[in-house]
Amino acid sequence: MVYDNESKKKTIILVPYPAQGHVTPMLKLASSLSTFGFQPVVVLPEFIHRSLADKVNAATKGGIVCVSIPDGLDDDDEETNKGRDFFVIERVMEDYMPGQLARLIRNNNNNNIACMVVDVLASWAIEVGRKCGVPVAGFWPAMLATYSLISSIPELIQRGLISDSGLPQIQGPISFQQDQSLLNIDDLPWLIGTQAAKKARFKFWARTMDRSRSLHWLLVNTFPNESQNVRTSNPELSPTIYSIGPLSSIGPSESLTFWKEDGSCLGWLEQQKPNSVIYISFGSWVSPIGEAKVRSLALALEELRSPFIWVLGPGWRDGLPKGYIERVAKQGKIVAWAPQVEVLQHKGVGCYLTHCGWNSTMEAIQCKKPLLCFPVAGDQALNCEYIVNVWKIGVKMNGFSTKDVNDGVRRVMEDREMKKRLEALNARVVGEKVNLEVKDNMLCFINDLKSSVNALQFNL
Ligand code: UDP
Repeated sequence: MVYDNESKKKTIILVPYPAQGHVTPMLKLASSLSTFGFQPVVVLPEFIHRSLADKVNAATKGGIVCVSIPDGLDDDDEETNKGRDFFVIERVMEDYMPGQLARLIRNNNNNNIACMVVDVLASWAIEVGRKCGVPVAGFWPAMLATYSLISSIPELIQRGLISDSGLPQIQGPISFQQDQSLLNIDDLPWLIGTQAAKKARFKFWARTMDRSRSLHWLLVNTFPNESQNVRTSNPELSPTIYSIGPLSSIGPSESLTFWKEDGSCLGWLEQQKPNSVIYISFGSWVSPIGEAKVRSLALALEELRSPFIWVLGPGWRDGLPKGYIERVAKQGKIVAWAPQVEVLQHKGVGCYLTHCGWNSTMEAIQCKKPLLCFPVAGDQALNCEYIVNVWKIGVKMNGFSTKDVNDGVRRVMEDREMKKRLEALNARVVGEKVNLEVKDNMLCFINDLKSSVNALQFNL
């Protein structure tokens, strides 16, 4: 558990929440920090380290060090992630990882650690940093508006909108802080599963926000000026906020994902007409859409004869009609895991049917692909609200009948105004001007960090 830091660089220890959508931006952030002269060390539980460390090492030529800490998990079902649900991961994080991380920090030269960057959802590590005397910056891998929503929990309770245990007390849409969106109360991020599961998830969030109140800095994986109102008027947002994203445009070009990508869909894409293919993916972890929906979508695609690439992991294929994959072999590709960014960049892809995960949303905007939205859980409903009603670069799907799919695809593919809005948003999210602003924000953070801890520790 000791890592060798042969260079004279100051170490920054990065602790992601252990899921693909969190580890990817944390690795990008590590890459960005290394360009500012730091030695990034990313701490991963064993089950993720196994599938990722060699790839990271090869892609960054050792520039990012990945350190494994034991996770106490069973190695079975690695591929499907069964037995690794939210609550199992929470238990591993709370009960198993803190002691391991503290040991890792103490076994190394404390003076050489400039700070820790901790995913707010891995808030256990904020506590470890505090106990070990290492400054901690928070990292929010999603939209700033979602952070604002979560930090509004006390306000939502006080307004009588939710109970002390997070359950809705009214029906219909709610607003929060000064945010531009309206969210249906049933779409609050913790309202997933049974009543007991909802309460347990709410507890997780309440504890997460309690711990993150002690943070001085929050690095957010969003573009500058995403939610200006939130930044200036929300007293609950006590840390200083730095927009340093979207990180998807930074770092090694190799995609560093847990699973092996099936690149065969890229060759197939070459044969397709421009703007004709529907790319479909519901993310990496929390969001199986259920057998009935898989079946309905499969039949709609077949009836419409639309070319498609559909990411369906081995554990999610049960709803496919018998013999479906063979029947549609010419019309579409079903893959277990795609090189998503390369697919989205391809001119053959006309739109993206998505669960509205934040990384996927940013990647689609960068690649200028309009979105068909089918949010399932967590922050996806709020992301969808922004896509559909604030930015107006996609439409929401209420189901997957042939008519639903046909109408949705037509609306996003034929709407010229939507394409213009997408272009304009792309310019706000990526591009030279934004890059400069993001670099500036990173420098501000580093200078802030330097001035608030012992200046002699730094030698940048
Ligand atoms: N992804 C990928 N291949 C796939 C599906 C997803 O590389 O077949 C990547 C995608 O590019 C994104 C991440 O997995 O960077 C998913 O993150 P997101 O925040 O969109 O959703 P989550 O999986 O966390 O729900």
